[in-house]
Amino acid sequence: MTQETTQPEVNIGLVGHVDHGKTTLVEALSGSWTDQHSEEMKRGISIRLGYADTTFRKCPGVDEPDCYTVDEACPDGETSEPLRTVSFVDAPGHETLMATMLAGASLMDGAVLVVSATEDVPQAQTEEHLMALDIIGIDNIVIAQNKLDLVDRERAMENYEQIQEFVEGTVAEDAPIIPISAQQETNLDVLIGAIEETIPTPDRSDDDNAEMFVARSFDINRPGTTWEDLTGGVVGGSLVSGELTPDDEIELRPGREVEEGGQTEWQPLTTTIRSLQAGDGAPDSVGPGGLIGVGTGLDPSLTKGDSLGGQVAGEPGTLPPTRNGFEMDVELLDRVVGENDEVETISTGEPLMLTVGTATTVGAVTSARDGECEVNLKRPVCARDGATIAINRRVGARWRLIGIGTLRA
Ligand code: GDP
Ligand code: MG
Repeated sequence: MTQETTQPEVNIGLVGHVDHGKTTLVEALSGSWTDQHSEEMKRGISIRLGYADTTFRKCPGVDEPDCYTVDEACPDGETSEPLRTVSFVDAPGHETLMATMLAGASLMDGAVLVVSATEDVPQAQTEEHLMALDIIGIDNIVIAQNKLDLVDRERAMENYEQIQEFVEGTVAEDAPIIPISAQQETNLDVLIGAIEETIPTPDRSDDDNAEMFVARSFDINRPGTTWEDLTGGVVGGSLVSGELTPDDEIELRPGREVEEGGQTEWQPLTTTIRSLQAGDGAPDSVGPGGLIGVGTGLDPSLTKGDSLGGQVAGEPGTLPPTRNGFEMDVELLDRVVGENDEVETISTGEPLMLTVGTATTVGAVTSARDGECEVNLKRPVCARDGATIAINRRVGARWRLIGIGTLRA
């Protein structure tokens, strides 16, 4: 099958409880070619972050919603027309981290909440993810009521009503609920129609400075490559704004830790873009949407093993400051999801795990009052005033999302 070489224009998060069918749905919607043809580098990034691109299409002369498809061939023999390429973000097997990522990374333009009809509503992560969407204000939501093939009509109706009741008063109150079977690929045309309607491509201005959240970084050279043949380090992630073009100079923050006279400090790295990777090709420029890979002139030993994950890249001099600590306004959840315990206020001295953009760092609380606190970070982050921060506390053996912070100016 031929592929579009278009860069995805919108990022859609797949959220919901483990085993409810998120990955099956992504596979059903993206077709097997997504993985087969991806470059190794891109596949590496995709697996880590769970991105999959797909092009929604429409069969000409067919009524809605039957016209929606991801196949090129229409049932009547016609060829379908591409509508837009979307990128699904499905963190495989990381349902707990998903809430953190959702809250921290501001990369999602909308979400599909997958709810299995075979279980009572809500299950733990169904609730946790909806709360995360709620507090960060992602309100472009489509609910996929999945596994309809496994339940009878009565159970399906009962489950549907449970979902309605559950979303009442939340950000998903008006979200369409589409009954599907991801495995049997039933009703996916209706689901695509609902996504097209509910999750529009956001207006993005190309004039904004480029700002890329780095999620991974690699050394793509084979062992034993000689110095002259070395390819520079590669960083992978997503642009939140602006555009990148080969030969652009970029800066990465916080950069790297250097020691000078017994003191360590973080210094930004600067380099030049040598190549770009997005969608299924190597475009002349990339903008926000989906995953991108950026080949740089950096010494590959600086990028190997994801060492630059969590950093921010962009035009030198335009990036937010590197912070060793910050003050934030705090909005706590009512209770710890899945624990049924109230969230206790944050106290001075306690460790918190904070996600800012793609960076996750541990911070020690140096002062805390109602609705605000100050933290000292183990590892600095590059973040703007007003950035959203996912706040996690250790509860038992796990880090749990307990609230959202807003970085103070
Ligand atoms: P995830 O954890 O939310 O990503 O769930 P998966 O996509 O891995 O699905 C969990 C299990 O449910 C797998 O065994 C799937 O084959 C199965 N499954 C997913 N969707 C459906 C469906 O619509 N019908 C049936 N019968 N099984 C499904
Ligand atoms: Mg999965």
